[in-house]
Amino acid sequence: MTGTASTPLPAEQSLGEQDGKYLRLAIGLADQARARGNRPFGSVIVSAAGEVLAEAWNRNGETGDCTAHAETEAIRIASPRFSREELAGATIYASGEPCVMCAGAIYWSNIRRVVFGIDAVRLRVFRGERLDQRDAELSCRDVFDASPAAIECLGPALIEEASSSHVGGWKT
Ligand SMILES: [Zn+2]
Repeated sequence: MTGTASTPLPAEQSLGEQDGKYLRLAIGLADQARARGNRPFGSVIVSAAGEVLAEAWNRNGETGDCTAHAETEAIRIASPRFSREELAGATIYASGEPCVMCAGAIYWSNIRRVVFGIDAVRLRVFRGERLDQRDAELSCRDVFDASPAAIECLGPALIEEASSSHVGGWKT
């Protein structure tokens, strides 16, 4: 698999046991999303104490809502229920690198830690050239780096597992 000619593929990062467990949960939700006719993305928000605060999958196909990305959906569940202080200690897991919209939602939620599976560069191989499937080519780290709060970001990680949800999952 190759990226676009100008963009190098980011190196895979290794995860600890807990991070691996929750990222795999997000990847499982991506497969569930796909089985229900949505883009294959899943997301989980976990508190500092290790409690799952929200689980969500992409619901574009089910709802017709173009903003129903997995991470934004998970934040819509968690944000009304938990305080900004609680969310500051939480981690959001995403099967794929958060897009610009989701990175913005993560910032607004006050979640300060992000772990993602397949990166946006590798994802573009699956997205292809269709305009309805292409993403804005700005890394989530660019959004986090521009935010006034420090947001730790780990990824790509478990690339092979996270990629499997996307094989044959996009229109050509
Ligand atoms: Zn998104």
